[in-house]
Amino acid sequence: MLKQSETIDENKNPFIVCDGLVKIFKTDEIEVMALQGLDMEIEQGEMLSVIGKSGSGKSTLMNIIGGLEKPSAGKIIVDGKNLSDMTEKEMVLYRKKKVGFVWQKSERNLFPYLTSIENIEAAMNFTGMSAKEKKEWAMELLEMVGMSHRKDSYPRKMSGGEQQRIAIAVALANKPVILLADEPTGAVDSKTSNMIQDLFRKLNREMGITIIIVTHDMKLANKVDRVVMISDGKISTEKIMKDKYREQIDSIESEELGDDSHEEYAVMDKARRVQLNEEMLREAGIDTNKVKVKVEDGRVIIEAENK
Ligand code: ADP
Ligand code: MG
Repeated sequence: MLKQSETIDENKNPFIVCDGLVKIFKTDEIEVMALQGLDMEIEQGEMLSVIGKSGSGKSTLMNIIGGLEKPSAGKIIVDGKNLSDMTEKEMVLYRKKKVGFVWQKSERNLFPYLTSIENIEAAMNFTGMSAKEKKEWAMELLEMVGMSHRKDSYPRKMSGGEQQRIAIAVALANKPVILLADEPTGAVDSKTSNMIQDLFRKLNREMGITIIIVTHDMKLANKVDRVVMISDGKISTEKIMKDKYREQIDSIESEELGDDSHEEYAVMDKARRVQLNEEMLREAGIDTNKVKVKVEDGRVIIEAENK
């Protein structure tokens, strides 16, 4: 098993801090603002889902947390270290030692010319383990993801789901403190994606590893304690699982989780701005850019200007 506590100062909370993250991509003609001042905090050992429309900035956020990209502005602190201050070399070490990635496409996760166990061992190159230790740890990981029987198989001989299980073992090979999965079940059927989601939860429970999963599948997204929604490069809402579900989550199939499992909150940013969605605006008959805001009986009411 991983011994996380050796490498982590338990007093440093929160574990991941995104503070006003901005990311601008410049090409010859255009500038795209993929993150627009995103604030978020993640505790150590949390497992959360990130959802949002295509192009909303999910992958950009994952790449910044994983040290693959630097923000254009704002701060990203992981385990007490400000990634924005790191040199390129420090970033490489950070990635190799602290982060595990699982991508949607298996070609990005696995070397096609290596067997399962070889793929896993290859990811241990920076750990300083001996050949024997590597082998033992690789076998343990294969066992953990339920793939011991496929240890000598090449990726192309395995199903998409099997490849993703090996990919998860590869991602854990360096004993990372964060596991980042960007649409890991995007290319497998729903039964397999359920299995993979359960595997993430097991790893989160048993190893205490912090896991962030980007997903399109709301059923899977709902199977975690906290779901954050990104729109236009910012967190817009957060859903927190209700206690009564939290207690029995292990015995609930994701199909049985309705909309009722989580409490949904709008997120207020540092400038005290709250984002309203289209549906709310339509229902409240708000169709201009001015609204009336007032406090009544301890509630803040936002209504159409012509009401
Ligand atoms: P998501 O993962 O939510 O679909 P991304 O983070 O991939 O969104 O992208 C957010 C926005 O940034 C999109 O408009 C995308 O086109 C743009 N973008 C992402 N990466 C790059 C890049 N390397 N160069 C230029 N634009 C990019
Ligand atoms: Mg993406």
